[in-house]
Amino acid sequence: MVPRLLIRHQEIETAVGNLAARINQDYSGKNPLVVGVLKGSFIFMADLVRLLGFPVEVEFVRLSSYRGSESSGKVAMVNGLRSPARARDILVVEDIVDTGLSISCVMAHLSRKKPASLKLCALVDKPSRRRVPVTIDYLGFTVPDRFLVGYGLDFNEKFRNLPDIYSLEEGDSAPGAITFVRRY
Ligand code: 5GP
Ligand code: MG
Repeated sequence: MVPRLLIRHQEIETAVGNLAARINQDYSGKNPLVVGVLKGSFIFMADLVRLLGFPVEVEFVRLSSYRGSESSGKVAMVNGLRSPARARDILVVEDIVDTGLSISCVMAHLSRKKPASLKLCALVDKPSRRRVPVTIDYLGFTVPDRFLVGYGLDFNEKFRNLPDIYSLEEGDSAPGAITFVRRY
């Protein structure tokens, strides 16, 4: 079975633009701390912050979870924030909310730091897999239970640099069938 092109880069661009427009409205006059969850959010985060029309500070947190395509269910904060978060407006940027365990851990960790506000922006939601409730303030796409790669999302650390998002179906023997197009 061939990996299926699920979300084209152009659709992603449009969605990121719409998210940025809403964030620009809600945060005008503020100077939020934008916190990306590594590694999956790095491309989404880079595209999003460049569309924000106010000064931002950027930080990253890193979690351990996920091996291959199955959640271990175990989540632990590996690297926390370096900037002070107290009384700051914090916007967390996540690639996918799946079971919700990872992002709940991040949000709980940050809320203990007593920020002025704490919101979540996620590119993709997979609500059918949720194990703990999560409020997503800004959401790009809702998808069924598929394993996604591309636009920052990996399979065994590969495919993060694909501009589009693909789904790997059960039984896919060769994710290598995805073609990398050289643009330059
Ligand atoms: P959760 O704790 O919500 O189950 O898992 C969230 C994290 O697992 C996401 O931030 C993402 O990094 C990873 N993840 C969840 N679903 C997928 C997927 O379909 N593809 C990839 N590459 N990573 C995923
Ligand atoms: Mg992630």
